[in-house]
Amino acid sequence: MATLCPLSASPKKTIARGGSIHEAPNSAESQTRPSGKDSTLMGVKHGVLSKTAAVLSKTIVHELLECPICMNIMYPPIHQCSNGHTLCSKCKSKVRSCPICRQELGNIRCLALERVAQSLEVPCRYESLGCHDIFPYKSRFRHEKSCQFRPYNCPYAGVECPIDGNILFLVQHLKNYHQVDMHDGSTFNHRYVMTDAQGVENATWMLTLFSCFGYHFCLHFEAFNLQRAPVYMAFIHFMGEEHDAKKFNYSLEVGGNDRKLTWQGVPRSIRDSRATVRESLDGLIIHRNMALFFSDGNIQELKLNVTGRIWEIQS
Ligand SMILES: [Zn+2]
Ligand SMILES: [Zn+2]
Ligand SMILES: [Zn+2]
Ligand SMILES: [Zn+2]
Repeated sequence: MATLCPLSASPKKTIARGGSIHEAPNSAESQTRPSGKDSTLMGVKHGVLSKTAAVLSKTIVHELLECPICMNIMYPPIHQCSNGHTLCSKCKSKVRSCPICRQELGNIRCLALERVAQSLEVPCRYESLGCHDIFPYKSRFRHEKSCQFRPYNCPYAGVECPIDGNILFLVQHLKNYHQVDMHDGSTFNHRYVMTDAQGVENATWMLTLFSCFGYHFCLHFEAFNLQRAPVYMAFIHFMGEEHDAKKFNYSLEVGGNDRKLTWQGVPRSIRDSRATVRESLDGLIIHRNMALFFSDGNIQELKLNVTGRIWEIQS
């Protein structure tokens, strides 16, 4: 059986994901080696080099460094079997024999590929989502953790939803899959009901989705124990980045029996999970006794009206 070690492939041909052979786009580009040293010699710097680098990165680098098991880019340490099949350290920790040739894996590093990897510049893995930055291999990893084009997690409350994507995709997903109600406008009035409020200490209500100022906001309402005291918490999640979330303020109000509680805050980006927002208590907190007092004084039944408004901060 032929050895598939990526380093043994001819420079013009690489093994693609599906196993087919690709020709490099043209010979001029394939002769331009992308190592940092050569780039300096040719006097080519970031940006100027980007087009060639991008083409090269896509064809050769990306495929060489793609783990054949999980398809993610491999970061050092990169491992290989005694036949030269490479795999990432995450996949290696899950298997004992090579997934391709079934040889015992042992503990062989692919130092050559690690060195190639470290000398290259590669595009951000979210390139197809709109990020056009190119990075030295190592710092790319750091960038990707905070790249603004990385997909957002679904903000749905109740079950952990594994879906991620861009905002427009998630809005459609919330509507179609979770059947979330969507409202237009920046003011809202939402009623939360629970018949046996005393018996329930942990609950999440269906979120409500608002569309205003060209953005989407989620209103969350949940019950949990705060230092053993049962509370309700309402807050607004912003579907976008934190720097855009900061352009807005919102207020929430609950009341009854001639009393009311109000909260004014800044929407939190959905980059911060619901758990994170809950831990930081960044929202309207209502103790259960108070909430039941607002609910016509019925000590069993929660009937809470949350009203609110979102507005743009004038800079
Ligand atoms: Zn892998
Ligand atoms: Zn193997
Ligand atoms: Zn990026
Ligand atoms: Zn979801």
